[in-house]
Amino acid sequence: MKKTVLYSFLYILFMITSSEDLQAETKIAFNVSFSEPQAHYTDVEMVLSGLTKDVMDVKMPVWAPGSYLIREFAKNVEGFSAIGANNKSLLSEKISKNTWRINTAKNQTVRVKYRVYCFEISVRTSFVDAAHAFLSPTGIFMYVDGMIKQPATVSIEPAKGWDKISTGLEPVKGKQNTFFAPDFDVLYDSPIEIGNHDTFEFTAAGVKHEVAMYGGGNYNKQRLSADISKIVEAETAIFGENPNKRYVFIVHNYQNGGGGLEHLNSTVLGARRFGYTDEGSYKDFLGLVAHEYFHLWNVKRLRPKALGPFDYDNENYTTNLWISEGFTAYYDNLMLRRTGFYSPQQYLDILTNDIGTVENQPGNKVQPLSEASFDAWIKYYRPNENSRNSTVSYYTKGALVGMIMDLEIIAATQGAKSLDDVLKAMYDEYFKKQRRGFTDAEFKAMAEKIAGKSLDKIYNEYINGTESINYNNYLGHAGVYLSNELSGKSLPYLGVASVARDGKLIITGVVRGTTAWVDGLNVNDEIIAIDNFRVGSQAEIDRTINGKRVGDKVNILISRDGILQTIEAKLTANPNGRYRLEADPNATPEQLAIRKKWLNL
Ligand SMILES: [Zn+2]
Repeated sequence: MKKTVLYSFLYILFMITSSEDLQAETKIAFNVSFSEPQAHYTDVEMVLSGLTKDVMDVKMPVWAPGSYLIREFAKNVEGFSAIGANNKSLLSEKISKNTWRINTAKNQTVRVKYRVYCFEISVRTSFVDAAHAFLSPTGIFMYVDGMIKQPATVSIEPAKGWDKISTGLEPVKGKQNTFFAPDFDVLYDSPIEIGNHDTFEFTAAGVKHEVAMYGGGNYNKQRLSADISKIVEAETAIFGENPNKRYVFIVHNYQNGGGGLEHLNSTVLGARRFGYTDEGSYKDFLGLVAHEYFHLWNVKRLRPKALGPFDYDNENYTTNLWISEGFTAYYDNLMLRRTGFYSPQQYLDILTNDIGTVENQPGNKVQPLSEASFDAWIKYYRPNENSRNSTVSYYTKGALVGMIMDLEIIAATQGAKSLDDVLKAMYDEYFKKQRRGFTDAEFKAMAEKIAGKSLDKIYNEYINGTESINYNNYLGHAGVYLSNELSGKSLPYLGVASVARDGKLIITGVVRGTTAWVDGLNVNDEIIAIDNFRVGSQAEIDRTINGKRVGDKVNILISRDGILQTIEAKLTANPNGRYRLEADPNATPEQLAIRKKWLNL
């Protein structure tokens, strides 16, 4: 009782003395409407009342958290105006690519109006047409500089014939189609689907889940509810609590959809409209659900320091996306294994694929995982023809580092602990107790504390270095072994990827260190013939080269920018591996115990 009184007193004192007090009275209300949905426009009005400043800057974010690329959402804004009392126009000028400066002329209430063109289909961009509106908030709602912590309401006037709104935002009681955000971080984390989509609900882990299905499809609501529930329960069990009361899945079903974006209490998923009855495609979808749902803890709450509170004006750099994305990618398939959707061998086959992807990518030897994370903004999200040679995915390699760390911890603790315990302890310490993001050193310290041993080797060689992961060192703990069918074989390899385009076979990629790289074949070269035999497809190139031996010389006739030339190339050996993971049937009892813990057997 005393505590409460003391805190209230301190709070009042803070409110009186804080400079924020000047803004505390400002109310922000958005009115969203669609006068021309068929032309892909959203009409936005932002009403600011209780203003005390003469000048204010209004800004549109440049990126959407979770998707690490500057997307310049202001590029879609038009018709910006600011209006004071009596409908009088106020002076405003654009002072940067995403900032409008408004002279309030002492008006306490200002209405800012603008329109946003919404025609980019993805989980992190807005799309509006005659059938529906998907609002990705960082590209729709502007904020007033310095008022990011202010609450806001959003009133939506759906276009004619639209009757549903699905969003993680809290509805305002008694006000139809009106929602509340306690601050702009929450507003920016709450996408909105408006239209005539199908909806259904289920409860899992004590949380009410709503699913908004846009675009139709051959999904079975009962089956989806049951299967997603299993994933929700299993993930909640890892962290020991589910912080939401309500969670919304917004699913966009397209002819060929995919991808997802995580939010605090919702997610947006892309799916294949008629993929729900195909077992492989259905499990891919469940894997996507498991991934985005896992994020509600890992990255939305348990997060690296740089990822919140966000700077919506610039890149937010972190060396830890291998944890936030990579570990989430590790857990998405692992959850499907633990809940029985994948058999142990099916799961090992998925890991084998990941290992092949990483090990057969030359950039794995060039770019450390921590650097791949830091440079996501300019590299992962902006790939070019040389990306394979110079970068590694913090998703795929991050997942493999998650796997080896998991196995190392299980083995070091004789099955008492696992990576689950590291994530839960980090969540408890930094999200719940300290209410802040973690540093690189803090994550490592916690992982080592749970493991009871140093993880220097993993960090120095596989996270901050570019050594090849010694998989069997870790998989061996569980009596699982990686083999390479091509090991010791010297197979000739040209090292190009190509595509047939307009009757021409065009090189689209040259692999570092191979024949093509050493002897100077270029991306965009047209390959016409090898040793005077015409080739018209990648398969023909491969067949021609397979008949040769490493060290043989071949003459490759190409056209480079219209100039014919012959390149003499000396065939090098194929550096790629063809991998396989197998569980040893004669594993020791210790290995079997670790395998059981790892794969939930
Ligand atoms: Zn993710």
